[in-house]
Amino acid sequence: MSRFMDAISFRVGTLSIGDFGSFRGVAMTLLDVNEMFDTDEKCRQLLKRLRWPGEVECVRCHMPNVVRLATAKELYFCRDCKYQFSVTAGTIFNDSHLSLKKWFIATYLICESRKGFSANEMCRILGGSYKTAWYLCHRIRAAMKQANPPMLDGTVEMEETYVGGKKKGKHWQGRKGHKEVVIGIRQRGGDLRFFHAADAKSGTLAKYIQENISQDVEVIVTDEWPAYPKAMGGLKHETVNHAAKEYVRFGTDIDSNTVESAFSLLKRGIMGTWQIGRASCRERV
Ligand SMILES: [Zn+2]
Repeated sequence: MSRFMDAISFRVGTLSIGDFGSFRGVAMTLLDVNEMFDTDEKCRQLLKRLRWPGEVECVRCHMPNVVRLATAKELYFCRDCKYQFSVTAGTIFNDSHLSLKKWFIATYLICESRKGFSANEMCRILGGSYKTAWYLCHRIRAAMKQANPPMLDGTVEMEETYVGGKKKGKHWQGRKGHKEVVIGIRQRGGDLRFFHAADAKSGTLAKYIQENISQDVEVIVTDEWPAYPKAMGGLKHETVNHAAKEYVRFGTDIDSNTVESAFSLLKRGIMGTWQIGRASCRERV
């Protein structure tokens, strides 16, 4: 059951795994899914609870100054940034002509099927064209993969940076002021992940480390931001001194320069317009 719930709360863009409450641990059958989510309205209510366990917040500026629009669907308007969004904004369910009910059933079938589920089988159960069934299967599998990414291993570089705001400067002098914190984590020669974080304190960094980095990691390389050592939880940690331009320690394999250069690209791309998700430790850029 939890696999289905995890999948329904796809971490695509802004949506993240929320509180499954009473659904946890309940063995659910296709019949249950069919009955519990027999209308799109019921599907939307579940998505809403998963996405915003507390009050609804804007998917763009993340402020809670949001009003619900008087329409049949879950549509909201942000008074701060004037953005209009639905509960499915930024998820795989967005902009689909398929009903949410069909998406839910397809998700259940793919999650619970032991041997995998073909587009042909999906087509027979849901009706419609093979092309649509193939698209559903493809999108759901891709989202599941994204929702359960593998832990990073080997040499992992980690870096925190600040974007937005008017102050210049990245390091100590720039760490204050109204800037948004982005944490980048990269496996040397592998995945690069960005997160929009609430802050860059030890507790927050520790959460990202636990969620993304294997306990068997060889070394985590960071700059000398003082919050890192406490966040490591016993994992091997090395620092590079950016203030002294010590980007590469010759003769060793320590270098957080690759994360740094990825950041400069990211900053250019998103300065001013945040298109990334946010919530404590669950967001993905
Ligand atoms: Zn807004």
